[in-house]
Amino acid sequence: MPVVTPLLPGHCGMPGRFTISKAFELDGVSHELQLLPDGHKCRRNHGHNYVVTLTLTADGLDEFGFVTDFGELSPFKRYLEEKFDHHRLNDVVDFHPTSELFAYHLAGWFVETVEPTIHGRLVSVRVAETRLSSALWERGEAP
Ligand SMILES: [Zn+2]
Repeated sequence: MPVVTPLLPGHCGMPGRFTISKAFELDGVSHELQLLPDGHKCRRNHGHNYVVTLTLTADGLDEFGFVTDFGELSPFKRYLEEKFDHHRLNDVVDFHPTSELFAYHLAGWFVETVEPTIHGRLVSVRVAETRLSSALWERGEAP
């Protein structure tokens, strides 16, 4: 894909990079964290309306001036809705479903499935259980 280095009047050459973020809502998802000790409330089945936020970056903008057109993230939205919406996470994944590991799983799926088809590159995935509590996976440097 062509890469455009934007010429911003008065700011030519100013170092920096663009990122975009998009949030997706997941309703009625439950999980139970069975590795927790007896008596921990999160060991019991309970639900969250998760908000999953992707952040992407790119070395330059595409020919439309985007890191990635938000519409190109629709396969991720479909994956979330079809696989997880109104499901018990323990039934549909093969890992201990903390928000941290859920974010890591979603990052892996996105990098394998969506990232090869778009201009941008995944930077992070945030999984929020509530307005005040979330887990973040951040991409590291390649070894
Ligand atoms: Zn929970």
